[in-house]
Amino acid sequence: MKILVTGGAGFIGSALIRYLIQETEHSLLNVDKLTYAGNLESLIDVEEDSRYRFEKVDICDAVAIKGLFENYRPDTVMHLAAESHVDRSIDGPAVFIQTNILGTYTLLEAARGYWDDLEGPARAQFRFHHVSTDEVFGSLGETGAFTEETAYHPNSPYSASKSSSDHLVRAWHHTYGLPVLITNCSNNYGPYQFPEKLIPLVILNALEEKPLPIYGKGENVRDWLYVEDHVRALVLVLTEGRPGETYNIGGHNEKTNLEVVETICQLLDELVPNAKLRDHASLIQFVKDRPGHDRRYAIDASKIARELNWKPRESFASGLRKTVQWYLDHRPWCRRVQDGSYRRERLGTL
Ligand code: NAD
Repeated sequence: MKILVTGGAGFIGSALIRYLIQETEHSLLNVDKLTYAGNLESLIDVEEDSRYRFEKVDICDAVAIKGLFENYRPDTVMHLAAESHVDRSIDGPAVFIQTNILGTYTLLEAARGYWDDLEGPARAQFRFHHVSTDEVFGSLGETGAFTEETAYHPNSPYSASKSSSDHLVRAWHHTYGLPVLITNCSNNYGPYQFPEKLIPLVILNALEEKPLPIYGKGENVRDWLYVEDHVRALVLVLTEGRPGETYNIGGHNEKTNLEVVETICQLLDELVPNAKLRDHASLIQFVKDRPGHDRRYAIDASKIARELNWKPRESFASGLRKTVQWYLDHRPWCRRVQDGSYRRERLGTL
């Protein structure tokens, strides 16, 4: 297949593209605006491959997007481009509304116009796969898990913008018949994640003996999904999922933020003992909680397990060990992606 991938220079998008080139026969066009979160350096292993192409385009640019559909003539679309960081959405929601809502709308309209003109097998096989988050469902109490039927209840500007985009995608299916797929997944972690998110931030701060900030008491619970497990699930949904359906993807790894940070510290104590520190956990610092911080997310991923026979391969222990080792081995990448505009300072405090 020829796949138009948006956001392929980001964390999950680059893992998806490496997987598509290295593990499948598919070709792809990576459409990315290259915001602070997009780094082509994450794709150097595959950029020379003849099945890979890149276009620096904003998904809000309707003319350019239409042109890409006409010229590239994709068999299918995987839409990952988004503003993705909750704390940034608290400081500046406008770009979240722009990219996540208007950008998705622009892409849907271009895809609809293109799909309308397709015929036969090309029309039957076309898919618009929208990649979304479990944050659209809001916050859980001590028990329970989000299913595909859970009502939307977004609490942050980020999750509200992603919810809006999910609704648009679903509406384009019901109204226009566009064959869409939606996936909602939990927190991803793994190599090449921009160091503003919890796991890489903690690893890099600990290596530089900087404080490890934990919001509130560190009791908020997230489910953690290793990015390569997520990418396998995405390709499975794309190729075998039923149009119009939603699939939840989770890692079966519910952890409090404090547990996550303490586990990273234990791994660093083992892999890079620091004689100056008692242990890396001594760097932990509790800071004021994020405004409106959702308490707990948990995913019921039984539908994708049952229907598409997917389950994660990595446990949190194995995935986190691989991730910490990757950051230890790729310090130059970490330095280069932080271009000076972001210095791991606290964001989203109001
Ligand atoms: P990311 O922030 O690492 O990457 C986003 C990419 O989109 C970047 O390459 C950026 O340059 C590009 N982009 C942003 N605005 C754009 C625009 N207007 N036009 C074109 N490209 C643009 O994000 P990620 O963590 O890789 O997440 C990918 C998708 O998965 C997002 O839709 C996100 O909401 C969703 N998601 C992420 C997680 C997670 O834990 N990271 C969890 C659930 C869902």
